[in-house]
Amino acid sequence: MTALISQLRSQAESLGFCALGAAPARLEDVFLKRLEHKKTPFVRHSPRHRCGANHWLTGARAVLAVAWPYHHRYAGAMSPPAGKGYFSPFAAAPDYHSQVGQKLKQLAEIFKRTLPGSRWFVQVDNGPGCERLYALRAGVGWQGKNNFIIVPGHGSLVWLGLLATDAEVDPGQPLDSQCGHCRLCLDACPSGAFSSANSLEVDKCLAFWASDRSSLSDAQCRLMAEHKTIYGCDLCQLVCPHTITSGETAIIWPDLADILGLTESGFRQQYGNTAAAWRGRNLLMRNAAIAAAGQASLASLLEDLCSRKGMVGRYAQRALKGF
Ligand code: SF4
Ligand code: SF4
Repeated sequence: MTALISQLRSQAESLGFCALGAAPARLEDVFLKRLEHKKTPFVRHSPRHRCGANHWLTGARAVLAVAWPYHHRYAGAMSPPAGKGYFSPFAAAPDYHSQVGQKLKQLAEIFKRTLPGSRWFVQVDNGPGCERLYALRAGVGWQGKNNFIIVPGHGSLVWLGLLATDAEVDPGQPLDSQCGHCRLCLDACPSGAFSSANSLEVDKCLAFWASDRSSLSDAQCRLMAEHKTIYGCDLCQLVCPHTITSGETAIIWPDLADILGLTESGFRQQYGNTAAAWRGRNLLMRNAAIAAAGQASLASLLEDLCSRKGMVGRYAQRALKGF
């Protein structure tokens, strides 16, 4: 490790980041090809743009990838009881985009002092760069068979951020996978989204269904109702032996009744500062209607919603009939 990367890493750690590595500004073709053969929902940038920091920062020479741990948001058992829904702790308030984004800006200021005259561009899950591939190339972690970056000693419950710079920083080396013969994540997926290692079919992922407005089949709704999915899933991470959970997050399970009765102002108040807010109130209400199917205590709330126009009313009707 060079003295410079060692210095940058300890500066990042002093702010709370748990890993830092350096990648070339433009990722090699082997990384680019991974994106070209993959469907990535909700991403508007082209693979070439996502793998080329010169598109986001003129004269970029390197990209530093960092990880911020959030395992303290997770408890060991992660299944909500009757009447509650699964709302992934990663998306809970405060929204990591602003939380980690502010830390990245602070870090860039520190790096500017370390490397006078350098320019920096930061992003966390809302910019053009592909965090996962840069983190993999930089050696921040290895890519598990569940596709998540697994940071040694910290697991995959980390948010990834990028700092592109025109300063010269030597790239690190990718880490070898430590998955071995393990396939716990592949076997744990309730919807069979993995046919083999790293072969995620996003159209089969519960977390994707919960954030997409496309029409859901009865079979999809049955699975969402079984898992009480409101936002996210996380099972393929939680079964991983490298995953660390250290919190007491059971309290974050929202009441399905509360979501079924959400007003627009209530939504802004309760969910405006979560990473789920961008999908809007109606999507959470639709998912709550699905999760409420078969729960007698919620039937009258579903009946009240049946007359509503749009997907909330439609799914309330379907939930009452049973999927
Ligand atoms: S998040 Fe859940 S549904 Fe999606 S791939 Fe992982 S285990 Fe399967
Ligand atoms: S569960 Fe096993 S196979 Fe999956 S990412 Fe973790 S170590 Fe790798």
